[in-house]
This record gives sequence, C-alpha cells and structure tokens, in this order.
Amino acid sequence: MEDRTTTSGQEPERDPYADQPLRSPWIAQMAPDGPPRRLTADAETDVAIVGAGIAGIATAFFTLRTTSQRVLLLERDRVGRGATGRNAGQLTTYFERPLHEIADEFGADMAIDAQRAFDEAHDLLNVMVSETRANVQVERFTGHMGMFSLNHLVVHLRNNLLRRQGGLREETCVVSEKAEFLRQIPSEFAHLYSVVPQRRIRELLNTDDDRYRAVLSDRKGAANSATLVQQVLAFLEQRYPDRFVYHDNTRVDRIVVGDDGASLHSDEHEVSASNVVLCTNGFVDHTIEDGTGEPITLAADQRIVARVGFMAAFAEAQQVLPAAFSYIRNITIGGDTPYVYVTRRTYDRHDGTITLTCMGGPESPIDITEYDPDGPVPGAILTNLDEQARPLAQPSRPPGLPYDFQWHGLMGYTDGGIRVIGAHPSHPALLYNLGCNGVGFLPSIHGGQRVARILSGEHLPPSVFDPR
Ligand SMILES: Cc1cc2nc3c(=O)[nH]c(=O)nc-3n(C[C@H](O)[C@H](O)[C@H](O)COP(=O)(O)OP(=O)(O)OC[C@H]3O[C@@H](n4cnc5c(N)ncnc54)[C@H](O)[C@@H]3O)c2cc1C
Repeated sequence: MEDRTTTSGQEPERDPYADQPLRSPWIAQMAPDGPPRRLTADAETDVAIVGAGIAGIATAFFTLRTTSQRVLLLERDRVGRGATGRNAGQLTTYFERPLHEIADEFGADMAIDAQRAFDEAHDLLNVMVSETRANVQVERFTGHMGMFSLNHLVVHLRNNLLRRQGGLREETCVVSEKAEFLRQIPSEFAHLYSVVPQRRIRELLNTDDDRYRAVLSDRKGAANSATLVQQVLAFLEQRYPDRFVYHDNTRVDRIVVGDDGASLHSDEHEVSASNVVLCTNGFVDHTIEDGTGEPITLAADQRIVARVGFMAAFAEAQQVLPAAFSYIRNITIGGDTPYVYVTRRTYDRHDGTITLTCMGGPESPIDITEYDPDGPVPGAILTNLDEQARPLAQPSRPPGLPYDFQWHGLMGYTDGGIRVIGAHPSHPALLYNLGCNGVGFLPSIHGGQRVARILSGEHLPPSVFDPR
C-alpha cells in the first residue's frame, strides 16, 4: 500500500472521494421500459393513481384485485424510478418512531393494529409476487440491530412489551453480560431479554466493536422493489386490459377535488376520476385544491417534507448469506447522529451471482425544487459512508476504494413519523398512500391494500394512518 505519511511524520487527511455519477443497483437490473407512453388525450376513470412506485403499483394491484373499478395510473418519469428504484430494498416493518410513543398518542390498540398491519405486509408482498408470477428475488432472514445505551434498550423493550400485550411477534433481545447498564435495566422488562457473553453480541452484529452491548433481532428481508413494480405493472396490463391504463412521462401538476370526484391536470390534458389516490412519496411539486381553488391540506403533523437518503454498495465475488444490520450511533433516540444500516444480499449481474453489501445512513433535508434525482452523489457523503459505515459493513475492506454503486433517493417524512393512508376527512374523493418516514417498502404495500378496501366500500375502524 502507498505510504501516505508526510515528511513531518504526521498522518495526512485522507483524500475525500470526488462526486460520483448516480448509479443504483436496482435500476441497473430493470428491463427496458419500451417507448414512453404519455397521456395524449383527456380521459375518464373510476380511480386515478398518481405515482408508479411501490405505493402506486400496490394500490393499483389491490384495487384491481378487490374491486371492479377502472384504474388509471399516471407517472411523471418511468415506473420504479423514484425511491422504489433508489432505496436499500430492505423488508422491515418498524416505525421510525417508538411504537410505545405511538401508543401514548393514539392508544395501545391502534398502535398494535398499525404494527400488525405492517408485519402482515410480508404476506401481502408474497401475494403480489406469487399472483403476478414476478421472478424478482425475495430473500428473507433475521436482521440485527446493535445498541450501546440504556436509553435505546429501554425504548425497544417497552415496544416489545406492547408487542407482547397485543399478541404480536416479539423481537428477540440479548444484552451482553459486560453491558455497563446491565443492573440498571428496569425489572419490568426482565422477561423480555436474555444475558449473553459479549462474544455473542459480536457474532450477531458481525463486528468486533465492543461499544455494542445489546442486540435486537427481527424478521427482515430484501428485494429489488424496482424490478418488482416493473413486473407487477406488466402483469396488470396483461390481466386487466379493459380496466387498467398506464401513462408515464406525464406529470400531474394540479388536482382539483370536488364533492363527487376529482380532475387531474397535466400539460394540456385532463383526467376525470371518481377518486384520486396520491402515491407521490416526497414529491410535492403539484397543487391540490377544492372546487373553489382553496388548497387542500392535511393536519400539520401529516404534511410531507422531503429528505434525501444516500447509499453506497460494494460487490464481493464470494456468496455470503443475506443479512441486515443496523448500528445505532446516537446516545438517545432522536439524537443527531444517524444510525448506519447495512444490507447484504444476493445480486445477479450479467457476469454471474455475487454478494452486494449496501450501506446507508446519511440523510439531508432539501429544498424539493432544487433536488436533481439524477444528480451526482456528493463525494463528502461517500467519504462519510466509507469512514463510518464501511468498518461495520466489511471490516476487511480497505478504506478509499471506489464503490460499485452509489445513489440517492427522495423520501417523504411527516412530523408525526407515521404514514398517511386513506381518504381526506373533508374531501373523500382524495386518498393518500404516502409518507414513508424512511421505511416504505412493506408499508406502501399495506397502504395499497388498505386504500383498495376503502375504495371497495368497506368501513374500516379508525387507524393511526387516517388522514386528518
Ligand atoms: C436511500 C433510501 C433508502 C431506503 N431504504 C429503505 C429500506 O431499506 N426499506 C424500506 O422499507 N424503505 C426504504 N426506503 C423508503 C422506500 O424506498 C420508499 O418508501 C418507497 O420506495 C416509496 O415508494 P413510493 O411508491 O411511495 O415512492 P416512489 O418510489 O418515490 O414513487 C413515487 C412516484 O410518484 C411519481 N410522482 C410524484 N409526483 C408526481 C406527479 N406530480 N405526477 C406524476 N407522477 C408523480 C414519481 O415520479 C415517483 O415515480 C428508502 C428510501 C431511500 C430514498
């Protein structure tokens, strides 16, 4: 290796990475889309869906499956090019906010129902894959989260207590016998964890970083959501030629919602629909108004704020079992330092099957009007991932090597930290399935099914997801 010690004997600052072209491993695996299919005339439908990511495609899938209504799906770009083609692809069902806090706000029953709904979205994904005969690879495994502070541990044990009360699957928790806070864990949680040698913590987290003293393990998985939506779209077009229409390269810039329907405006064309479902994720560059021109909004804590998430990935020739790890790095929940997450998975390339390890964590709030979805990944972010995440993802990988893939994507956050699913309380023709708050693959699928149930006329009990 190059000797980088200066003549003064001091270690020089490591060269930062240069900005790199955006390259997502999921978009790289997609099939060609064929020619663009713009909306070229006014149209009329029962249900208009805006956005062809996993949320829009799942909403179309379940609506067509559950109802006899006609569905028209509009996408500004091509299918799967939003966050669905630029995520980590991890199948995970936690809220980016402690479940017990959600219970404090909405009551334990509603919090448990919401968690159950996300957990059961694993099964809905299976239904989508099997019924559409999608050949996208879905891997399932146990994922592990490393913790080193009492605050984190207690928050997760409290969540687990709620899970137990609600009869949900519990997360497994182990605490190192070396944990400095072992004796401070409140006795009410005694039955929710077991004490193990520190060696076991190292094994589970695949690290020799002995800061980590406790591990929470749960059901996870991984799949390429971009190829999934592309394949489901092809199925829907084939299966429902009389009831399903798809247009891409068509940006909806204004939606007007009336008492018994909505109109969607794009360039010079208009779509009239009995219902419109927004599956637009963090994109907020369209207006939504009522018949008098007044903007239609949601409760302050449900409004979508866009953030950008960044990722890098490296390929390894040898096949390693798929796995997911996250490493908490702040002392208390909500602290500034983002956690780092790593997903290791099987990845098919033109030259064979390899192991792909994806690392993420850094996020930044943005001015949506300035976001370039295809802009480069800032070198400073790659340096950060290389310094902070790589030693956990693959300790034997030397620092400073180029990454095989680097990418970023847009996510929609709400102040309340909870997805918005369902009909607007004052404008029932307008429905939502958005607001991932960092975790949106399975929640989008749950949202698609829930919206379909509402559109089929079912009266669902109140939920934490209800638009307010
Ligand atoms: C870096 C990163 C990592 C992530 N990792 C994970 C993870 O590991 N696990 C997980 O569960 N979630 C993860 N997520 C979140 C998850 O990817 C998203 O929640 C999910 O893909 C969102 O799907 P969607 O359909 O709501 O949004 P998108 O896929 O963004 O689709 C929205 C679509 O709407 C279209 N659109 C928007 N506005 C308009 C308009 N006005 N007119 C027409 N079309 C419009 C867009 O072009 C876009 O195609 C991650 C996200 C990012 C960015």
